[in-house]
Amino acid sequence: MKKKIVITGAGFGGLTAAKNLAETDFEITLIDKTNHHLFQPLLYQVATAALSPADIAVPIRSLLSDYKNIKVILDEVISIDKNNHIVNLRNSQLEFDYLIVAVGARHSYFGKNEWEKIAPGLKTLTDALVIREKIIDALELAEKETNPEFMKKYLTFVIVGGGPTGVELAGAIAEIAKETMIKDYKNFKPEDTKVILIEAADRVLPSFDRKLSEQAKEDLEKMGVEVKLNTRVENISEDGVLTNQGFIKSNTIIWAAGNQASPLLSSLNVETDRAGRVIVNKDCSVPGNPEIFVIGDAAHFEEENGKVLPGVAQVAIQQGRFVAEIIRNEIPPEKRPVFKYKDKGTMATIGKAKAVAEIKGFKLSGVIAWLTWSIVHIFFLIGFRNRFRVMIEWIWYYITKRHGTRLIVGK
Ligand SMILES: Cc1cc2nc3c(=O)[nH]c(=O)nc-3n(C[C@H](O)[C@H](O)[C@H](O)COP(=O)(O)OP(=O)(O)OC[C@H]3O[C@@H](n4cnc5c(N)ncnc54)[C@H](O)[C@@H]3O)c2cc1C
Repeated sequence: MKKKIVITGAGFGGLTAAKNLAETDFEITLIDKTNHHLFQPLLYQVATAALSPADIAVPIRSLLSDYKNIKVILDEVISIDKNNHIVNLRNSQLEFDYLIVAVGARHSYFGKNEWEKIAPGLKTLTDALVIREKIIDALELAEKETNPEFMKKYLTFVIVGGGPTGVELAGAIAEIAKETMIKDYKNFKPEDTKVILIEAADRVLPSFDRKLSEQAKEDLEKMGVEVKLNTRVENISEDGVLTNQGFIKSNTIIWAAGNQASPLLSSLNVETDRAGRVIVNKDCSVPGNPEIFVIGDAAHFEEENGKVLPGVAQVAIQQGRFVAEIIRNEIPPEKRPVFKYKDKGTMATIGKAKAVAEIKGFKLSGVIAWLTWSIVHIFFLIGFRNRFRVMIEWIWYYITKRHGTRLIVGK
């Protein structure tokens, strides 16, 4: 009988593992609760109406239809019974010989989950569409408002969290509110809009080189973003955000401040870190169960130098490839290699023709960093059609300065 591999999650890690186990003698089942593989690094462009959902998502089934040994199931994994080698789905079960858990992460509200309704985070296509509607809605409300106090609230956009997602969102919203979409509204001017980025640390992009953080802050400020450092959120309500530096009235608050791993991982009953990620062995397996692997954003992997790997796509991709190789060759636990991450660099874009990047010790900013960012993102997008469409959308936007996907459809 063929051995069974179950992969949960078809994000960067799970999809890479599946592809690297294609055309082998294993029977593979890939389960995802959505029917699409999502390119999260460009989600903020869907949230800010620059791209459409279909530009950055591809049906998982179509990506793997050529491989006879891979079955794709649209379902949610509810729990894992590691002792009996069973994965529990909503209404059924699956047995496995090997299991790869690659379920990613959600945002964390640090115990204040009630904030999520008011200040959505950005992880899924649904999140991006909710944010897009919130932004466009606020502009529509301001267009018909006569009370200056209410108008101010509608035209104030607050982003909580100055990491790459927060910086990218702030830059893109500033472009909308100060330059591109604003032309279509008659009741207010660019200077009436406010985009505020709140960060608890003393700089934005804390994981980047300090000079690049300063450059990013300067670029954001030139675009009209008010960057509030050393500022902690104390409460979020329908009226706005209370911080240790005062209250900001706002109708549109976006959360980009923290990650929490999937609750599914708790059913593995192994040690996790503060973010709920499984603390994995050096071969990415779960302590006590060498046939179960946790990879990508769901894993806490400590390198030999004591550094914990960041939650980025390259870590998930490389770990997916690594564990596929172990399973493909059925390497026994004592002979397995140690996972070694090859850091290919980090980057964040700040707006049109502005970005910062750290690649193999080189620190780039401005147009060169932005060109590098654009090329890398087009290259890593899955599917020729998506690459072509995103490129055309970007060229169209840079020539016309008009966003293509400004629809409100969720009402
Ligand atoms: C807005 C944003 C911007 C980012 N920008 C960058 C960037 O510029 N560069 C970079 O390197 N990284 C970036 N990242 C991080 C990067 O996207 C993640 O590190 C990467 O996606 C992790 O891959 P993964 O396979 O672990 O999880 P994911 O890609 O998140 O995939 C997890 C999959 O599991 C599925 N799933 C979850 N729970 C279940 C369940 N119970 N049952 C079944 N299926 C389930 C989900 O539907 C999803 O398809 C960004 C992330 C976000 C959110």
